[in-house]
Amino acid sequence: MPYPPPQPKLGVVFNYGVFPTLLALSTLSRFAGSQAAGAAPIFRNRFACLSPYLPNLPSLPIPPFQKKIIFAFMINDTFRHKGLRSRLVDELRGKGVGSEAVLRAINVVPRHLFLDSSFVKLAYKDIAFPIGAGQTISQPSTVARQTQLLEVLPGQKVLEVGTGSGYQAAVLGEMGIDLYSIERQAELYKKCCQMLPSLGYSKIHLFLGDGYEGLPDMAPFDAILVTAGAEEIPAKLLLQIKIGGVMVVPIGSKVQMMTRIRRLSEEEFEQEEFGECAFVPMLNGINQ
Ligand code: SAH
Repeated sequence: MPYPPPQPKLGVVFNYGVFPTLLALSTLSRFAGSQAAGAAPIFRNRFACLSPYLPNLPSLPIPPFQKKIIFAFMINDTFRHKGLRSRLVDELRGKGVGSEAVLRAINVVPRHLFLDSSFVKLAYKDIAFPIGAGQTISQPSTVARQTQLLEVLPGQKVLEVGTGSGYQAAVLGEMGIDLYSIERQAELYKKCCQMLPSLGYSKIHLFLGDGYEGLPDMAPFDAILVTAGAEEIPAKLLLQIKIGGVMVVPIGSKVQMMTRIRRLSEEEFEQEEFGECAFVPMLNGINQ
């Protein structure tokens, strides 16, 4: 979404004066949870109309502490969103997603807050969507299938390549995974550094870097998930899988084959294929 945004709603904050508004927000946030807890949801709803601008907040010229407060108040996850999510979960179940742990996470994570605009209805349809920097958020059934293929349990250590919008990361965070996620686009990395902690996923470790290199200092991982299409199996990542662990990676150029590689021993790997898919390409280097 271009900045300044085309709609005047962000002007609400600026027209009334950004500092009085921030003062009011910070005072209220101090009281929330104590005697004025009841007022917080009302106040939150007043500012709910700003939620489409959430992804632009990191780039606004506002001090970081105030940004955190605004962020907290802009998060808008209503019964309507919850209803749409539960319909999406039913749809995914119908499409053969069987892992209750994955479906539970998808039922909880507010996908609409990871999109660049407020197309709420589209957020809960089983489609991919642009997230900025020419990248896309994977469609929910792809997120569900890839996550299922990882076969991970709470507490396990997982590396994700391609943080993108942070949605897949939030799904894994919701499942209790100790997640390390790398993104090569600085713009997306910065958004996620703001977005994920505000949604409560503060334990996810985010890195700006080239996923082809992986994170050798943090390796080995119980599982590695690549959410971009790699022309060939990323060799350095193979060596960062724990013995017995897996890497799920789409392999190919225009169309890819969803591939799961299991590390059997130091040097032995087993490969399985799970059908065609289409991801944005996995590219080399960092884009500042
Ligand atoms: N998991 C993401 C999907 C993002 S699309 C989500 O839930 O939204 C794939 C992402 O991979 C893009 O953001 C792209 O910038 C990133 N990417 C591509 N090549 C990469 C690389 N070598 N290292 C890290 N990230 C990469």
